[in-house]
Amino acid sequence: GPAPEAPDQALDWLDSHGRAFGHFIGGKWTKPANTFTTDNPATGEILAQISAADAGDVDKAVKAARKALKEWSALSGFERGRYLYAIARALQKHARLFAVLETLDNGKPIRESRDLDIPLAARHFYHHAGWAPLIDTQFPSHVPYGVCGQIIPWNFPLLMLAWKIAPALAAGNTVVLKPAEFTSLTALLFAEICERIGLPKGVVNIVTGAGETGEAMVSHDDIDKIAFTGSTEVGKAIRSVTAGTGKGLSLELGGKSPYVVFEDADIDSAIEGLVDAIWFNQGQVCCAGSRLLVQESIKELFIARLKRRMATLRLGDPMDKAVDIGAMVAPVQVERVRDLMQRGAAEGATIYEPDGEVPSVGCFVKPALVTNVSPANSLVSEEIFGPVLVAMSFRTPEEAVALANNTRYGLAATVWTENVNLALDIAPKLKAGVVWVNGTNNFDAAVGFGGYKESGFGREGGREGMAAYLKPVWMKDLKPAP
Ligand code: NAD
Repeated sequence: GPAPEAPDQALDWLDSHGRAFGHFIGGKWTKPANTFTTDNPATGEILAQISAADAGDVDKAVKAARKALKEWSALSGFERGRYLYAIARALQKHARLFAVLETLDNGKPIRESRDLDIPLAARHFYHHAGWAPLIDTQFPSHVPYGVCGQIIPWNFPLLMLAWKIAPALAAGNTVVLKPAEFTSLTALLFAEICERIGLPKGVVNIVTGAGETGEAMVSHDDIDKIAFTGSTEVGKAIRSVTAGTGKGLSLELGGKSPYVVFEDADIDSAIEGLVDAIWFNQGQVCCAGSRLLVQESIKELFIARLKRRMATLRLGDPMDKAVDIGAMVAPVQVERVRDLMQRGAAEGATIYEPDGEVPSVGCFVKPALVTNVSPANSLVSEEIFGPVLVAMSFRTPEEAVALANNTRYGLAATVWTENVNLALDIAPKLKAGVVWVNGTNNFDAAVGFGGYKESGFGREGGREGMAAYLKPVWMKDLKPAP
């Protein structure tokens, strides 16, 4: 097969920063202070020192964003769009560096960072560059929120940054963004891109750190809107802290998405879709199709074929272009997944893992298939956020819908059937923000994505995603009709 991707370019970039990073505030880099390490989860090697921002650092970033807001929001949409196009082009130009850096920091297969994370991030900026000049006509009597505090997770570091920053900037907001503590590096490289393309200082500010830094942002008086993606637990805490403060809020939280396969489905396609739904990014995906619901009549056949397919998944060095399953983001996530699996097994579940070696160092977890579970089993009800699929069966479409909706989450759902009437009947009954039919994980910058119930509220992408960064106002000079 092809040689593994060399990490040289990314390591050179880290070296050029002395392997230590401060925050990016008001267009300047602060000195590294109060640092913690970020490492490569596939090897355990330390990559760099990252600074943890305290409330004072967050305040400086908010002040810089506030100062930049006047100039930025007064630019025409056309001019803001030009900056977004420049960012999109720079992401494409440096795509290889971004992809390698992402894989080193996060552990995801290079094939995924190269073919999905980075191109989709660029696409998101292109899409929103197109929105910027349309705001005045598409959203009359709307103004930007102002200063937005954005907090993102570690599963798609650059892509989640793009989902947050692109629409905010297109609408005329300025931002303070905090990447997750495990994966700050591509956000810091992104800050350098903003510098290089001459984005006005203070429009994008990047502060790094863990939950305490996020808390300082959430409780800051001069942030107008918080946009958060991460765990349901933290999302609930943020909602209660911001309640009654007048801050805007959008939350994109966890999921336990059903993957429903009817007896007439194209089985080969449904199995390939399932591989993508649950083993993409080691299952660390908020909309992962983590609950397989397969019709009783094809259950045995389907499970047998799925096991055969699982045995062909290649697990190992994420820099190897042929690898399907890389490393999970951090030891703490591996432990979380192992604990949950032990709990599920103790509650009676049967767990299948294909044969094969797992590297002796690094955060590697084999793909797993869980069967023999009742709806009460922890593995059925809890979000695992790892490469673990739970399988159950149903007899009738009504039963499929009831099982699919039997969750506190509502982010995504997938349905496989060759019967278009059945698909059209089922889809609206599934309580999920997006329903995919005969496909899965279809993302587009032009389509709103988001959840119901404990999966959060608000949409990212498309027109709804733009609306989330604008607020309607009464124009003072509107004259009453004569
Ligand atoms: P998390 O919610 O703890 O972290 C997400 C982001 O929020 C990070 O940037 C983190 O530093 C920040 N944060 C943490 N505590 C905060 C607080 N009190 N106030 C403000 N910001 C805070 O998620 P995690 O620890 O990275 O992962 C835990 C679980 O969350 C996962 O196992 C998974 O179930 C879920 N998760 C969901 C998504 C998603 O896309 N929906 C992404 C990552 C994790």
